Amino acid sequence: MTASPTSPGGPTLPQRRRLVTDIPGPESLTRLERKRTHVADGVGTTLPVFVAAAGGGVLVDVDGNSLIDLGSGIAVTTVGNAAPAVVERVREQAAAFTHTCFMVTPYDGYVDVCEQLAELTPGHHAKKSALFNSGAEAVENAVKIARAATGRDAVGVFDHAYHGRTNLTMAMTAKSMPYKSGFGPFAAEVYRAPMSYPLRDGLSGEEAAARAVDVLDKQVGAANLACVVIEPIQGEGGFVVPAPGFLPALARWCAERDVLLVADEIQSGFCRTGDWFACDHEAVVPDLVTTAKGIAGGLPLAAVTGRAELMDAVHVGGLGGTYGGNPLACAAALGAIEEMRRHDLTTRARAVGEVMAGRLRRLAEEHPVVAAVRGRGAMMAVELCHPGTTDPDPVRAGAVSAYCHSHGVVTLTCGTWGNVLRFLPPLSITDELLHEAFDVVAEAFAATT
Ligand SMILES: *Cc1c(COP(=O)(O)O)cnc(C)c1O
Repeated sequence: MTASPTSPGGPTLPQRRRLVTDIPGPESLTRLERKRTHVADGVGTTLPVFVAAAGGGVLVDVDGNSLIDLGSGIAVTTVGNAAPAVVERVREQAAAFTHTCFMVTPYDGYVDVCEQLAELTPGHHAKKSALFNSGAEAVENAVKIARAATGRDAVGVFDHAYHGRTNLTMAMTAKSMPYKSGFGPFAAEVYRAPMSYPLRDGLSGEEAAARAVDVLDKQVGAANLACVVIEPIQGEGGFVVPAPGFLPALARWCAERDVLLVADEIQSGFCRTGDWFACDHEAVVPDLVTTAKGIAGGLPLAAVTGRAELMDAVHVGGLGGTYGGNPLACAAALGAIEEMRRHDLTTRARAVGEVMAGRLRRLAEEHPVVAAVRGRGAMMAVELCHPGTTDPDPVRAGAVSAYCHSHGVVTLTCGTWGNVLRFLPPLSITDELLHEAFDVVAEAFAATT
């Protein structure tokens, strides 16, 4: 029996990989033609199957193909697509009211989400939050808050960083193509330091931190720095995990100089790495945390959470936005957090991570193109390089990914050189499907030598 395009999604969808047409199938190809007519070419698609329903660990397309999802819509549907508590709360909220603008007339959902964020983010100090629509908007606002709180202008960021596509966040993002090329001039007062990248620098965390703060100290000057913004595990930049000790050393350096440490946990947060936040792994307590992606089970919501006195440094009316903390998005976030607690998704992320790490290590033994297996919890990646070197091999990464797509597994690539395959399945995936997906990944490596 084929799931029809009108089947409801969510966890009741049949959990299986099943291809009934080529990928993309004829129905998707027809729609792709319409996309070409009506949607700007600048909006690309990784895998052009049009989705009819999704849930558990699968996406079902308009041709009735059922694909295994190893991408979660880029780390968003951590609790699974159309997760029951998300659907239920959004449905109730939509029937009650859809928008008032929190800055005009407030409502409980917004405050409830901020209360949850204070409880869940690293550190036990007094915290406050402000809510926005996208990750980039949260990062921009974290910088606004840091500047208002410190009276300083400069912002420190890192090699391979990704912070978004708005003007300020383009300046903070490292990679030119496709994120920045042709879109300048960029915002001023953004300075880039070298990241800890164990495969490529061989430095300990302490050594890499010393190298980074030397650049910040000598080229910017701590006295001019409002904040240092870092992804505790880099996302688009290649799932780069800094060497142990790097983040704590950076945090110490910042604290001693009253430079605010901003953790961009937009991709790594909300159970993804096997803790609530990636900073928790080394007990790093940032001054401000940005969240988005996994926070709301697929609805657009983002937040800045931080020390109450820093958050309150901004004058009344200085933070906000028409839709920031929209009631439907807040309801979704409360539903997503409920799912995370109910199903103990930090523990589940660790278990998913163990399965993936085991499968990827085996691949690394068999295929010398795999230069590194890295990540944490359900945020794992392999970096592909020409054997015996650290010369990136994006062609092989693309070929492996294309094979997976045509065999019904949604995989994503990333990395400064496009040579990293990243795996971030919804935590609602079954072990059986997860293994089946990695059987396909293994076939893909064998078929592309
Ligand atoms: C995705 C991402 C962003 C930008 O979020 P958007 O919602 O796409 O604006 C910022 N930082 C990190 C670490 C991200 O992964």
